[in-house]
Amino acid sequence: MRAVVFKATREVAVEDVPDARVERDDDVVVRVTSSALCGTDLHMYDGRTGAVPGMVLGHEGLGIVEDVGPAVHRVQRGDRVVLPAHLYCGVCFNCARGDSAACLRVHPGHAGGAYAMPGMGPFRGSQAELVRVPFADANCVILPGVPGDEHEDDFVLIADAWVTGWHATELAGVRAADTVAVFGAGAVGLLAAYSAQLRGASEVYSVDLIPERLDKAAELGFAPVDVRQGDPVEQIRELRRARPGARLPGEEEMAGVMAGIDAVGFQARDRRHPDREDPRQVIGDLARLVNPTGRLGIAGVFTATDAAPAPEGGHADGSLQVPWAALFNKGVTVGFGRTHDRRYTTHLRDLIISGRARPSQIITHHESLENAPSIYDRFDRRVDGIVKVVFRH
Ligand SMILES: [Zn+2]
Ligand SMILES: [Zn+2]
Repeated sequence: MRAVVFKATREVAVEDVPDARVERDDDVVVRVTSSALCGTDLHMYDGRTGAVPGMVLGHEGLGIVEDVGPAVHRVQRGDRVVLPAHLYCGVCFNCARGDSAACLRVHPGHAGGAYAMPGMGPFRGSQAELVRVPFADANCVILPGVPGDEHEDDFVLIADAWVTGWHATELAGVRAADTVAVFGAGAVGLLAAYSAQLRGASEVYSVDLIPERLDKAAELGFAPVDVRQGDPVEQIRELRRARPGARLPGEEEMAGVMAGIDAVGFQARDRRHPDREDPRQVIGDLARLVNPTGRLGIAGVFTATDAAPAPEGGHADGSLQVPWAALFNKGVTVGFGRTHDRRYTTHLRDLIISGRARPSQIITHHESLENAPSIYDRFDRRVDGIVKVVFRH
């Protein structure tokens, strides 16, 4: 089968590799019809997370079940399925509680597994013609329709980008009438903002420094905040103070937001020197911006080991300086971590089917799998207005 293979830092190739096949009785093999490129793929591409040459990349796949192991009961050959990025068994101590991202069986000895991520198990990725799905009855979300129909792009975003964005709003406890700021207007950030909007937020601010992303945020109805124009915390406070309407006593003190989301992670840019990274930048800004009694959701990735930490503020073992006292004194609740796919995937699927949600509005590029080396390079350099790429197989 053809597959996107990691070769070396900033080098991928599309190569022939051995076909994915049923290896255990509860596996299926899916023929991929669409897969997506994710900022997390760039953590491997950039040589930050210790990817091993030869690794098949991709963790956002959609396709048709082609082969079914004898112990698979629910999923059938010919089913259209989307494959959530974070693998789980569905029945262990953590899965039974809905904490599927911390599954104890899928990658024995660890809490959680995933396709094509170093340290997350041996599972090959879905930027390939075929992909093996372990614990298939748990890890296939069955969908209506046929490949290439009106929901092809919406459904592929259930594999990770939208689910992670939705999870960020859960971590930040977003509820009706909340004010919400999302740092990062890549695919996950835009879909976190979109999720906040679906949940009834009254104001949604989308913070970034790339013009095409800010344009997309405005197109979707969020207030774009351009970091190149100055401190985003002050910009949001100004916008909020300028609103018309009556105020409750003391409301001026609450000109920040009630819910803040980090959709950037450890590769945050230093605002004063955007060519440099500073993994403390976004969390520091959020700690200043969030109102007393507010909530933060940290959905951007923080890696356990960083092969090339930023000279200022970075740390090879992920120990970062965080303004703990500010958060304590404001009584802020902070939620972290990977999305528990099991809690959300079927709900989000149904929002698409009912016509209530169309997350595919964030997709900017469709490419053939053979173009992967070029699109990885352009996405990594943040050129050509790329927000989200879908490979058509
Ligand atoms: Zn992803
Ligand atoms: Zn489990």
